[in-house]
Amino acid sequence: MKILLVEDDDAIALSLTESLVQAGFDVDHVATGRDALTAAPVDVVLLDLGLPDMDGRDLCRALRTASGVPIIMLTARSDEFDRVLGLELGADDYVTKPFSFRELVARIRAVTRRAAGTSERTSDEQAAADRVGPLEIDRRTRRVLLAGEPIALTAKEFDLLAYLAIDPGAVYRRTDILEHVWDAQWYGPTKTVDAHVAALRKKLGDPRWIEAVRGVGFRLEPPP
Ligand code: CA
Repeated sequence: MKILLVEDDDAIALSLTESLVQAGFDVDHVATGRDALTAAPVDVVLLDLGLPDMDGRDLCRALRTASGVPIIMLTARSDEFDRVLGLELGADDYVTKPFSFRELVARIRAVTRRAAGTSERTSDEQAAADRVGPLEIDRRTRRVLLAGEPIALTAKEFDLLAYLAIDPGAVYRRTDILEHVWDAQWYGPTKTVDAHVAALRKKLGDPRWIEAVRGVGFRLEPPP
């Protein structure tokens, strides 16, 4: 598994790279946002929020627009970073410095496992779900286009959209959504689904994209 580490602090970058390599990961390290944007494709990005040449938030948004790669933000203080804002920017998770290496590895494994979840569907499902009205969902690259324009989604939002898009118009039960889109580690209140549906609706620009069916679940359909 290949990791892109975007970190301008040499001491942190060096020790983190060493530990990650020891843990069996391949690590590409860059110290600037510009280098991060031109780096080769990886499986996970670890992104320091405070970089010399670019705001980590802008970089996160740019990386997310370019690909569906899972992004974990590394932040200096918990109050520096608003989790909700981070998720809106497209980060999948974050850790606050100082963090334990074990915690970081657990999060890396969690985001990559979640990202891999949707790619395991059958080819029939993939072919059928590629287009929903003006919405194009590419499961291979995990990119979403709306009327030709890329939409920046978090890995979880992508998973949710891709799941609902397996059979557009069909109602998916809340419990099935939780089971398929969230793994056991993320099993939480069903409100989690609503929060992600709300975020998706906002990004799709029309709440009618995802209809709530009272007492049952949700369905995806192009707005009339
Ligand atoms: Ca920094």
